[in-house]
Amino acid sequence: MKSPHDLASLTIGSVREGLQAKKFSAKELTQAALDLAEAENPKTNAFLTFACEHALADAERVDKAVAHGGYVGALAGVPVGIKDVIVTKDLRTTCGSRILENYIPPYDATAVYRLREEGAVILGKLNCDEFAMGSSNENSAYGPVRNPRALDRVPGGSSGGAAASVAQGTAVATLGSDTGGSIRQPASFCGVVGVTPTYGRVSRYGLVAFASSLDHIGPFARNVEDAATMLRIIAGRDDLDSTSAFAPVDDYHALMRHPVRGLKLGLPKEYFEGLNAETGDVIHAAIKQLGSLGCEIREISLPHTKYALSCYYIIATAEASSNLARYDGVRYTIRSDGDSLTSMYRNTRGSGFGAEVKRRIMLGTYVLSAGYYDAYYRKAQQVRTLIAKDFSEAFKDVDALVTPVSPFPAFKIGEKVDDPLAMYLSDVYTLTGDLAGVPCMSVPCGESPEGLPIGLQIFAKHFDEATMFRVAYKYEQATSR
Ligand code: GLN
Repeated sequence: MKSPHDLASLTIGSVREGLQAKKFSAKELTQAALDLAEAENPKTNAFLTFACEHALADAERVDKAVAHGGYVGALAGVPVGIKDVIVTKDLRTTCGSRILENYIPPYDATAVYRLREEGAVILGKLNCDEFAMGSSNENSAYGPVRNPRALDRVPGGSSGGAAASVAQGTAVATLGSDTGGSIRQPASFCGVVGVTPTYGRVSRYGLVAFASSLDHIGPFARNVEDAATMLRIIAGRDDLDSTSAFAPVDDYHALMRHPVRGLKLGLPKEYFEGLNAETGDVIHAAIKQLGSLGCEIREISLPHTKYALSCYYIIATAEASSNLARYDGVRYTIRSDGDSLTSMYRNTRGSGFGAEVKRRIMLGTYVLSAGYYDAYYRKAQQVRTLIAKDFSEAFKDVDALVTPVSPFPAFKIGEKVDDPLAMYLSDVYTLTGDLAGVPCMSVPCGESPEGLPIGLQIFAKHFDEATMFRVAYKYEQATSR
């Protein structure tokens, strides 16, 4: 029997069962979750803001619904956390930046609204790299997050707090965002499930823009089933985001139970070059396991992979330089005065943004400037099309792709912080998924000899999250102890 004090092992299903059997009330569970999250936070710094009053009020509503015997929602009473780049009504949203230190949004992002509609209880907001730019959570203006599996190591980034809180047991599930790997890489580093859906599958309304053509909202959870539940709830067309897709949302739970025997899985050879040996051993063992479940494994090639990193850092910085122009000291919270309008802008942006954000604004402004637009930005867009074509060609022959998430497991805090190019390499295997807009996820598949979690990445065709979940679920079933 689960009590609210087994928070670290609760799942969406067990919360539901506990509430319905009256083993605990949503209010008791929420109070226990808040107490635990607050007590544990000094270890990891995963939460930036706690939403105690909101959370207890939401929980009371759930308890009333349970008492009336009506529909209580698929996430009734489930303690969740939200990455701090996703806006929450009346709840501070900083984007990990000093420039939004006191920003209180007047509305909920669509994904948050949909979670709340299903009874989820939002405990608070989760630390991240400033404006989601980073791979280690060390770019937050509010201090780094530590990996709960090894406190001297990074949790990955940019959704470091969202991955760490699920791993630490302080939230049952969370929402993160992924522009180049920011859900899958921290999921892999912290040993939890993380999902980047198809571009357009989940509304971006209320996701603070970093690089709009690459940004995705997606869930973190303890297991594949919970991740699928979260995605099913937040997915689907939203008139408030014109890029959100009309494609129907599948019944992931039914479809992922279908056998994987006969599924064709591609191993793109480019993703196995430059991999550290220990990570390689764990990934190969996972692939072998999928083979023994009856999947047909084939080596394939995604020939333009080697251009992904350069292509991503041109497109993402170009879009960021445009999106971040709005933080000007006139709208949104802080302002540093100056003796002219220009110096007010300069002082506000100079003191409000951190070094990585400034680096990207400069890089993005450069690649969009009249003299360099064709050489960099236009070229990168053409390369992006080739990368996307690699995937569509591959999916003519295979149903899904399996690869490592990152070339190495969680690194030490401080290890790469002075070397942006080494940091950017953390994402070599994840950027392509965002550039092509295909669904992809990380599922835990083992540990390095030092006991650091390693994730297996699964890619599927556009809008075919069901096949991706099927591979992940069957793998998880076959390997969970
Ligand atoms: N690490 C990558 C970057 O710094 C990806 C970030 C993300 O996905 N938000 O841009």
